[in-house]
This record gives sequence, C-alpha cells and structure tokens, in this order.
Amino acid sequence: MPTNAKPRPKVVIVGAGFGGLSAARRIARLPVQVTVVDRRNHHTFQPLLYQVATAGLSPGEIAAPIRWILKRDSNIEVLLEEVVDFNLEQTKVITKQQALDYDFLIIASGATHAYFGHDEWEPFAPGLKTIEDALEIRRRVLLAFELAERQENERQTAGQNEKNDAAQSGSPLQFVVIGAGPTGVELAGTLAEIARHAMNHEFRNIDPRQTRILLIEGGPRVLPAYSEELSRKAEDQLRRLGVEVRTSHTVTRIEPGAVWVGNEKILAPVVLWAAGVAASPLGRKLGVPVDRAGRVLVQPDLSVPGHPEVFVIGDLAALKDENGKMLPGVAPVAIQQGDWVAETIARDLEHQPRRNFHYHDKGSLATIGRAAAVAQFGTFELSGYFAWLAWLFIHILFLIGFRNRLLVMIQWAWSYLTYERGARLITGSDELPGWTQSPRPSPKNSVTTEPTVPAGQRRA
Ligand SMILES: Cc1cc2nc3c(=O)[nH]c(=O)nc-3n(C[C@H](O)[C@H](O)[C@H](O)COP(=O)(O)OP(=O)(O)OC[C@H]3O[C@@H](n4cnc5c(N)ncnc54)[C@H](O)[C@@H]3O)c2cc1C
Repeated sequence: MPTNAKPRPKVVIVGAGFGGLSAARRIARLPVQVTVVDRRNHHTFQPLLYQVATAGLSPGEIAAPIRWILKRDSNIEVLLEEVVDFNLEQTKVITKQQALDYDFLIIASGATHAYFGHDEWEPFAPGLKTIEDALEIRRRVLLAFELAERQENERQTAGQNEKNDAAQSGSPLQFVVIGAGPTGVELAGTLAEIARHAMNHEFRNIDPRQTRILLIEGGPRVLPAYSEELSRKAEDQLRRLGVEVRTSHTVTRIEPGAVWVGNEKILAPVVLWAAGVAASPLGRKLGVPVDRAGRVLVQPDLSVPGHPEVFVIGDLAALKDENGKMLPGVAPVAIQQGDWVAETIARDLEHQPRRNFHYHDKGSLATIGRAAAVAQFGTFELSGYFAWLAWLFIHILFLIGFRNRLLVMIQWAWSYLTYERGARLITGSDELPGWTQSPRPSPKNSVTTEPTVPAGQRRA
C-alpha cells in the first residue's frame, strides 16, 4: 500500500441506538473510517424493555453487544466511552477520557426521562429507558408481591384474621403508572396480567388478583397520539384487564410510597413514571438552537445550522414533516434518519448535492397486553387480537440477532399458552421506597386515598 495514500475521512457516531446503528451499518460500505462511541457496551431494543420490567423476557434477549453487531464491518471501531462535550470549531468530540477528531459527526444520543422540573421524584417513580431501569422496576414489582405475602403471613401469625386486599391502605399491592402513552399503557396492561394470571395459585396468604393498578394521565385520553376511536378501544381493553384508568388527572407530587393527584393522596409502594421524555443533554452542548425539550432544531438535511459536517438524528433531533407536524420520537424515524445521513455523506464524498430528509410513516402500533393492541396504518385502524399479532410480528422481525428472535418467539409462545413469566428474579435490595417492613395493620374498611392533611400531621 503506498504510504502517501490519502487518509480516509473520519466519521464519529455518538450513540449506538436505533439511529446510530442504522447510520453505522450503512456508512460501513463507504471508503471512510468510523468510530462508534457509546457509554454502554450494548444496543437496547427499547420497545421490549417493558417485557424485561415485567419479567417476561431477560435482558440478554432484548439487547446485544454493539461490538458483536458491527463485527463484520472492519472499518468500524467501537469505543465504550461517555461523550461529555463537543468542540465544533476544532471538530472534536470530547469524551471523559479523550478528544476524538472527525470529518463528519453524527450525534444519536437519544432521550432521557423528564420529571417536569421535579427530578427529586425519580427515586420514588423510576422511568423505563435502560436495562438497569427495567431491572429496577422488575425488582419493585416482584418485591411488592413478596412483601404483601409476608405482611399477610405476619398478620395471621399475630392472630388477626382480617384479609388485606389491595383496596385497603397498608397493602404493597398498589401500583400507580403515571402517563398513558405507549409505555404507560403497556406497563399497566402487563402488570394487570401478571396480577391476574401469572402469579395465580403461587401465594398462600394473598390473592394477587386483588392488586390495584392505577393508570393516571394528565390529558383527556390514553394513547393521545392515536385516533380518538383507538384511544377509546385501548381504554376499554385496559379496563377489561382490570386497570383503573384516570384521565385528565395531573400528578402534583410524588413521595416515598405515595402519589398526590391534586389534594388526593394515593398510597402506592410501586410508582412507575412514563409521563415525559427530554432530549439527551448532549444537544445543549452543541451551542445551536434547541426546542423546549432540548432537541436540536436540525436543518432539512439533518445537519446542524452552520455545521454541514455535523448531523443530529433520532430522538435528539427536532424536525417537522411536510405538514408542519413534529416527527415523533420513535424507532422508525431514528432508523430512517440514520440511513439518510449515511446517504448524505456518500453524496458529499461524490460531490453530489444534498437532498432533504422525508419520513415515510409506515404506521404505529401499541400493545396493551396479551392479544390486546391497537394499530394505525394511515387511515386503516385495527385493534384487539389482529393488531396484537401485527405488533408481535414486527417486534420479533426488528429484534437484533437470529438467536434473540428465536428465543423471544419461544418465550412468547410459552407465555401465551401458560401465562407464565419466566424471568421473575428479584435482585438487589429488598426494600421499597416508603414501605416499612412491618407496618401497623390498617384499620378496617380504610381506603387507598387520603384527604389532604397539614404537612406536619402527615402519616409517616
Ligand atoms: C420503553 C420504551 C418503549 C418504546 N417503544 C417504542 C415502540 O414500540 N416503537 C417505536 O417505534 N419506538 C419506541 N420507543 C422509542 C424508540 O426506542 C426511540 O425513538 C429510539 O430508540 C430513538 O433512537 P435513537 O437512536 O435516537 O436513541 P436511542 O435508541 O435511545 O440510543 C441512544 C444511544 O446513545 C447512547 N448515549 C446516550 N448518551 C450518551 C453519551 N453521553 N455518550 C455516549 N453514548 C451515549 C445510549 O447509551 C444509547 O445507546 C420506545 C422507547 C422507550 C424508552
């Protein structure tokens, strides 16, 4: 090889989620040197995180090592590092360890939870974004059943005959899910299934079917991104599963073991947050305009203003479609944008003019539970069993790795036949926030909600 060969252009991709990976796979075919930087060693298939959170699947079945995914592309190197800043003038990506040079930069660092200015709520109401989040939610959910069983056992040993159902205060079997978008709906629906079916016959002192699952939504309907008709059908399906749905209710405070909706206090040892997302903080490091959620206002070709060599894609990018509607934060948008940026870099290398990005919306699907889902493909709408089959097929198809597809298919076929959830492991701490190990028995006929009391007089 001649020593004076022109060095290949360097492309740095930040984030190996849906957008970053789709860009990397496409760019690998170009005469460039690519570095993919991610703070985790694995790509997570986020649409199935709720299955890990609800013990249906194990983490390894919905995630795969980035290095393994890209092993065949010899012009791609993978670095496990956290990006903390950029210097666009000097074309550098700053990680915790080093500064990386680039000729083209693609930023696809996704989104994170948003607690609307109440970050102090996070420890009491975890959101679902990473494998770690899913495992923490799984721990809390499964632990709640164990604590309920133990509490009932202690109560009976102490000679108190009163049964503790979840409609009474003092039971750990009260779950509140905040936010009725796709994640909140699938979490609430699946929790209801676990309570009604998966745990049945396994406990001797409690009846898991008494679990109370409350889904709280600030807007007027569940799944607001879908048509009103599909929202109504989704709500019906949730209620049939045993989920209490409260729309047009805003959570005003979350504290250990309780949620406040206006003046009403709802006791709930397990509270899950599915109400808001904000863009990755890396967007604000670029020094270019961002929207209120911190998403970068990209140019129609997905580059950032003033820097045609820097692209932002996926959940971190804010771009409107031809009807002036903001593109949603979903996997197909990120995947198509990743492809598009790779195509744009190819055109730049061939000195071809750039073209604007157009999103091809192939429809959206949201699952609610076993054989329950809604689907919208343009004007064609579907709900119930066939929507669920479509959801199942598409999610298995898009999972990375043949092994994962096969394993997930087997797991789902098994749970469909038996209602069993195979990954019911509690790992980590055996405490729930706000839950005392041996609480005072609750007074007979007490209810789950409490009126407002002055702060100084509130129950511990
Ligand atoms: C629970 C859940 C369910 C969902 N369900 C669906 C669904 O059913 N259908 C659908 O279409 N979409 C769904 N989505 C949305 C979809 O997952 C996102 O739109 C998509 O992942 C966005 O892709 P992305 O590449 O922008 O970011 P991501 O896929 O989130 O990837 C971001 C990557 O960047 C890395 N990263 C972040 N910060 C840094 C840093 N500072 N340094 C280095 N690396 C960093 C992360 O580790 C991650 O690998 C769901 C999302 C969630 C959370």
